[in-house]
Amino acid sequence: MDFEGILQQIATDMQAETERGTAAGYIPELASVDTNQFGMAVALADGRSFAVGDSHRRFSIQSVSKVFTLALALGRLGEDLWRRVGREPSGLPFNSILQLEHEHGIPRNPFINAGALVVTDAILAGNAPREVLGEILRFVRAAAGDDDIHIDDAVARSETEHGDRNMALSHFLAAHGNFENSPELTCGTYFHQCAIEMTPHQLAMAGRFLVGSPDLPSMISRDRVRRINALMLTCGHYDGSGDFAYRVGLPGKSGVGGGILVIVPGRASIAVWSPGLNRHGNSKLGTLAVERFAQATGWSVFG
Ligand code: GLU
Repeated sequence: MDFEGILQQIATDMQAETERGTAAGYIPELASVDTNQFGMAVALADGRSFAVGDSHRRFSIQSVSKVFTLALALGRLGEDLWRRVGREPSGLPFNSILQLEHEHGIPRNPFINAGALVVTDAILAGNAPREVLGEILRFVRAAAGDDDIHIDDAVARSETEHGDRNMALSHFLAAHGNFENSPELTCGTYFHQCAIEMTPHQLAMAGRFLVGSPDLPSMISRDRVRRINALMLTCGHYDGSGDFAYRVGLPGKSGVGGGILVIVPGRASIAVWSPGLNRHGNSKLGTLAVERFAQATGWSVFG
């Protein structure tokens, strides 16, 4: 397969797109990012990798961090984690508080904010935020095979300064007894985890731990790889998860920084980044680009 040619064609097509979406507006640091940027990288199970466009420019991974924290939390708590968070698509925006009241403080899934806050709270478990953030970074760096991955302090600060909604979610979870640490500590850790910055190339490399190929180093069990992929397919794109599954046919996790991590089980990890978002808060060109990639390669979990 001519991966280089496929990626070049996609990048050319994306350059010509005039409808690029809007950058996330909930914090100034993300609102000011130039939506003309586009980068994509593919890391294959056989060790080869390909990249195009702004594939070496750092962006804020935001909610994509939630796949790494979920892997850590499952490693630590095992299936007990599911007492505190569900596994169903939410059908609501990433930061919605609505379902929490109906479902007694048990968030719908680990990839919306409420669920991710519970996951971070579970890993925190009385430890110092600095230690837990160190552990998250070590995991991401080991997965990427690259130590040059850091937290963007300006983004973390901006999240904290505009964090009323996440604090509200946290207090609501605490009111239902689904929080072990203070909302301030868990939110602070969560804001920093979301502020990890990576390049599309680094993210594609880091995603290899979810490919489940015998040719790649395994960081978590095959069983867990399958399960995290299942959640990415059903819940990885907020209330746009069904649309992403229909158009792309592969598990993916998006973040409001405009990044998407997509897994082709057994074959590849793909990262795409373009900061303009669609109405569901998922990268507009990123989704289109992986849709084109899936069409060009014929890759799909549905055969
Ligand atoms: N830090 C963001 C928030 O909590 C993450 C949102 C996302 O990427 O879905 O609002």
